Amino acid sequence: MGTYVEVTSDNKDAAKIAFAEIRRLDQLLSKFNPQSEVSKLNREGQLRVSPDTLKVIKEAKEFYEQSNGAFDITVAPLVDIWKQAINTQKLPREEKIILAKELVGSNNLIIDEKTSTVKLLKKGMQIDLGGIAKGYAVDGAVKKLKATGIKSCLINAGGNMFAIGKKGQAPWKIGIQHPRKPGKIIGFMFIHDQAIATSGDYEQFFIVNNRRLSHIIDPKTGYPVNNDVVSVTVVSSDATTCDALSTAVFVLGKEKGLQLVKKFPATTAVVLKKEDLR
Ligand code: AMP
Ligand code: MG
Repeated sequence: MGTYVEVTSDNKDAAKIAFAEIRRLDQLLSKFNPQSEVSKLNREGQLRVSPDTLKVIKEAKEFYEQSNGAFDITVAPLVDIWKQAINTQKLPREEKIILAKELVGSNNLIIDEKTSTVKLLKKGMQIDLGGIAKGYAVDGAVKKLKATGIKSCLINAGGNMFAIGKKGQAPWKIGIQHPRKPGKIIGFMFIHDQAIATSGDYEQFFIVNNRRLSHIIDPKTGYPVNNDVVSVTVVSSDATTCDALSTAVFVLGKEKGLQLVKKFPATTAVVLKKEDLR
């Protein structure tokens, strides 16, 4: 999935168990692997998929509906255009964006649970699970770890974390990165048996023609999100929700984003805006 994974535990088997499950899910879900089910689906437009792939796509579609389209895995053609802009250091032509936008919309992503089949209705449509798969993989690892009786462990997949139990007597202490000062912590969160994720405009960004471009795309405009949000941290009972919601809140901005978060039980978010850093 193009990120690092870190496992912290006093149990010597924890890392092996977590990595095995994350590797298994990576092989299904990663766009970077041409053999993955996601890559196959993108090439063929329709595919009978395994239970995990079906489940994560189904959850992604639910977040699409809940977020009113702000979270949308069919944003892939736009993600590719903006990646190319970074590689060539040239802003894309507007016609290209307009054409790609035609392909975006999870309403055209059909899930048939009876046959475990996913179908992309428009030719050229593609999905990108970059905004949800890391969280899903962390949840998968947590299930395996709990099933083997591991009582204390922290997993971190590129900023998507789950804390099993406590660290000794105390909850796990998670530092939130300062969005503008690398290596500096802006605050701490304390979690146990909970997930946490941060989406920041500093994690991955690109400068083209002196413009700072976020890696999160607003599906409505076709352009990288350009609002006053610099980081979104979400705490919830599972890592999939944290991953998808942190991305969605980023797109929606603070006010609408926090309204979305309210729909989810036992879920809270901290949104930092540019003005908060002054
Ligand atoms: P995250 O780092 O979890 O915030 O997710 C960002 C990644 O999700 C990007 O690198 C894209 O692969 C993908 N993505 C970008 N914009 C969106 C969006 N609006 N909805 C869903 N996924 C997105
Ligand atoms: Mg995310």
